[in-house]
Amino acid sequence: MSPILSARGISRCFGSVTALAPSDLDVAPGEVVVLIGPSGSGKSTLLRCLNLLSPPDSGDIHFRAQCITERGVNLNQVRRSIGMVFQQFNLYPHMTALDNVTLALRRVHRMSRENARARGMAALEEVGLVEHHDTHPGKLSGGQQQRVGIARALALEPDIMLFDEPTSALDPELVGEVLSVMRRLRDRKMTMVIVTHEMGFARDVADRVVFMNEGAIIEQGSPEALFTTPSQPRTREFLSRLM
Ligand code: ADP
Ligand code: MG
Repeated sequence: MSPILSARGISRCFGSVTALAPSDLDVAPGEVVVLIGPSGSGKSTLLRCLNLLSPPDSGDIHFRAQCITERGVNLNQVRRSIGMVFQQFNLYPHMTALDNVTLALRRVHRMSRENARARGMAALEEVGLVEHHDTHPGKLSGGQQQRVGIARALALEPDIMLFDEPTSALDPELVGEVLSVMRRLRDRKMTMVIVTHEMGFARDVADRVVFMNEGAIIEQGSPEALFTTPSQPRTREFLSRLM
């Protein structure tokens, strides 16, 4: 199957720091790719390059048939198709859950209030929060706020979802509800690239696990292969520190 997203030689520096060395990544339709690696290894940089939140310094990214790293590409359209969920939920505190979810549809994509509401309610339904559509973020738990964050991305009907440590800011007892929303997305064949430290979850949902270290993709493979018989010393070392 040809990839839905294909990055070739993408890199990113910050001053003298190479956050991401030239890297290749393909994601097939419906595939779940989990990125793991130590803090500072370039996982967030890679994700942010993939949807051009922080465009790569070099290399090309193709999304479907289109080269999205060419000049003149519609960034709003790219970010609508390649959704992103962050560690910090970044919800507007003065707006209801539904208004947070529909804001981009209304403001950026100029959708009518009625259509945006229908989309927003469907997205809240997917994350199990319809009954809280009128609630402000401050009245929701962290897990519920992150589910609103997921609904906000889903409302744009993306073809791919990128998750950057979606449960790292949560109290342990709230992690499960967010992971189960992500499992449901997997079950309905959403294409996803997920950065997480939840290794049990990674093992369970990933079609492929990618290990990064010092801005480079060191090794990748099925969860069984990568977690049980990693081939690279740095992967073994990283995994052994988690056990
Ligand atoms: P990870 O997500 O794996 O923890 P990051 O992609 O956030 O890693 O960071 C990779 C490297 O790039 C780190 O050394 C980090 O300090 C650096 N870096 C990331 N973003 C920036 C930025 N906006 N400005 C300067 N340095 C950055
Ligand atoms: Mg990060």
